[in-house]
Amino acid sequence: MTSEVPPPALRPAPSASGVRLTSRTALVTGGGSGIGKACAAALAAAGATVHVVDRDAEAAERVAAAIGGVAHVADLADPAVIDTLPSGIDILVNNAGLQHVAPLTEFPPERFAHIQQVMVTAPFLLMRRCLPYMYARGWGRIINISSVHGLRASAYKAAYVTAKHALEGLSKVAALEGAPRGVTSNCVNPGYVRTPLVENQIRDQAAAHGISRADVLADVLLTRSPIKRLLEADEVASAALWLCADHSSYITGASLPLDGGWGAN
Ligand code: NAD
Repeated sequence: MTSEVPPPALRPAPSASGVRLTSRTALVTGGGSGIGKACAAALAAAGATVHVVDRDAEAAERVAAAIGGVAHVADLADPAVIDTLPSGIDILVNNAGLQHVAPLTEFPPERFAHIQQVMVTAPFLLMRRCLPYMYARGWGRIINISSVHGLRASAYKAAYVTAKHALEGLSKVAALEGAPRGVTSNCVNPGYVRTPLVENQIRDQAAAHGISRADVLADVLLTRSPIKRLLEADEVASAALWLCADHSSYITGASLPLDGGWGAN
């Protein structure tokens, strides 16, 4: 069994990144938990006004209160909800997502459709809503929280892998259309991050296979990652924040792997 390597004790806090976003307004979907919460905190620490969008009202309000942002309770599976969200946005972080694990032959079609709605259609509708403001100001950042699974597949994750690959394509189209208007669009591609989404997967897989959580980590989740630890949500947020800086304005249509070397393996 491989033991998990602990995260480095000292990582620079996002607020120490030197990225200044004081005149910027950001919207983070799924901002109530995990990676979205970390992104919302990092953007706020850099000075941005942050709209925290989540279907979980308590979580959205808790995060917004903690960072001095604005909470919006919205279920992104409903296309009509997008029109209720603010459109004057400089930085759009498409992050909300969910997982469902089942073989293709047993994958519930309605679950598949729901995942595409939240993870592909909602980002498309949000881009459509927010891009005119970015174009008018000649500056914008679209950060799509994709995944290693936007670049490669794993068995039993048909809806998630499909949605992340679609998000990669959508991000590239936004990059092409935004290029003459000062708007960049990029994907961030994490491996396994220590968030409730992954904690639930570890619990489910441990129960399904009758093995310990440590064995799920070592033998299932981290087998292909040369770095044997989970990624931390604030490490993803730091990458998202870096992509918002003016010094990142030539980076667009890219997919930034934060995968511990998984892609090299
Ligand atoms: P999480 O479960 O901790 O948080 C997801 C948030 O999205 C929750 O607050 C949830 O309420 C919200 N959400 C889900 N469905 C929604 C909907 N219909 N409308 C509004 N809000 C909704 O998950 P996380 O691990 O932080 O994942 C965030 C993103 O990062 C996802 O897109 C996920 O695919 C991606 N990602 C996660 C990992 C990982 O290992 N955790 C790895 C790669 C990519």
